[in-house]
Amino acid sequence: MKYISTRGAHAEGVSSAYAIKVGLASDGGLFMPESIPSVDLDFIKELSALSYPERAAKVLSLFLTDYGYEELMEDALAAYSEEKFIPSPAPITKLSGGRYMLELWHGPTCAFKDMALQIMSRLFTRALKKCGEKREALILVATSGDTGKAALEGYRDVEGTKIQVFYPIEGVSRVQKKQMQTQEGENVSVIGIKGNFDDAQTGVKRIFSSEEIATELNAGGVFLSSANSINWGRLVPQIVYYISAYCDMYKMGEITLGEPIDVCVPTGNFGNIFACYIAKRMGLPVGKLVCASNKNNILTDFLSEGVYDRNREFYATMSPSMDILISSNLERLLYLLFGSERCSTLMKELGECGRYELTADELARLRKDFVGYYTDEDECAATISRCYKNENRLIDTHTSVALSAAQRYMSPDEATSAMLVVSTASAYKFAGDVMLSLTGEKPEDDLLAPAMLKEYSGVEIPLPLENALSKEAVHKAVIDRERMADSVRDFALR
Ligand SMILES: *Cc1c(COP(=O)(O)O)cnc(C)c1O
Repeated sequence: MKYISTRGAHAEGVSSAYAIKVGLASDGGLFMPESIPSVDLDFIKELSALSYPERAAKVLSLFLTDYGYEELMEDALAAYSEEKFIPSPAPITKLSGGRYMLELWHGPTCAFKDMALQIMSRLFTRALKKCGEKREALILVATSGDTGKAALEGYRDVEGTKIQVFYPIEGVSRVQKKQMQTQEGENVSVIGIKGNFDDAQTGVKRIFSSEEIATELNAGGVFLSSANSINWGRLVPQIVYYISAYCDMYKMGEITLGEPIDVCVPTGNFGNIFACYIAKRMGLPVGKLVCASNKNNILTDFLSEGVYDRNREFYATMSPSMDILISSNLERLLYLLFGSERCSTLMKELGECGRYELTADELARLRKDFVGYYTDEDECAATISRCYKNENRLIDTHTSVALSAAQRYMSPDEATSAMLVVSTASAYKFAGDVMLSLTGEKPEDDLLAPAMLKEYSGVEIPLPLENALSKEAVHKAVIDRERMADSVRDFALR
């Protein structure tokens, strides 16, 4: 399987290892496989009998044809082990009214980014070897919270890599800060920046574009890389859990083989929902894809009117991982539906005017598979509370946005397909806002919120979070942003 750019570059095709190594295509586009492999019901039936790591290796091997099956199996076993995902990587639970939840937050950081980052780091080091890269990679991340911790856990102690994360001391929650400051691993560095997220991100971008730093690091046998959500190595592992979820629903006797299910995904950068769309294009029986947004409802508008317009107010909500105005992975969908030429034109318009518009015909094609709903803050809180009362279940703020969208999509009168709602974080990760939704109160110090929520609900705190909360901080460095480059040099060459 060869990979090409959504904007037309690399027309001769590159290997998946190369796409994973470099991340972005040379014309600024994203890498896509030149065709989408198909699966049939026999394949799904066969997968149903297998463990999650085996399912992952089978599905990944359809896309990453320059990786051996044994290699993929080894990586999947290491990534999705029982020590890392407690009790299992992607369990399905049942709600009332034909709804199911796919829980993607049983990994080391209690959020769904673990599903991709745990294995991406391993695919990445193999990619370096396959491409003949002798230098060590230093993964640089600027984070507003969730991604930094998930990347640290993904890359910790992974051969041939180091990882350095910069977080704004004014921009992350105390729980997130604690999770990062207690990070274990021999190859990790975590640094607080005096400033906000933009300061951290601008600093990292400047380091990436500095030739002087690149030359210096190169002399020491190191090069810089990122763990971006647009890397194919992060997207491809996400296809696995949709196929796996279907297998489990079939195995549980909830659906017959071939029966379509609808899927509802809380969406920010459009990576998670796009992975489901690929699974559908592969032949997985999926009906509608419900795209759930919070008050930053740019995708809802896009899916109803065909106009993508980022010239709008940005809101900080209680589902911060979905506070996004540029959904990068949407580009991949535009490419698949309308081709690389049209995709390039639309992306050019987005770059120049912050806006593009589909034709009526294009919108109709998009709406065959997708529908969008958004949920405001009050409804998000109300849904958390209703779910606790009616289903006796704690959900986090992002999952709540999805559950609310799913409810609006499902007709109360007509029989609809089974609805799979994707749950992307543990309620404990956003315990303060969950407490507020349930009781109208939250503690002033959000480090105390998990214990309060446990006391209120009787539900256990996930072990990795409990551990982080009880550990002493080890990464306590805080620097001025002017010193970021120095700290990269020190860490890379130490
Ligand atoms: C990142 C994230 C999302 C959004 O996923 P995308 O792939 O960016 O659409 C949703 N929920 C949580 C908890 C996240 O961390």
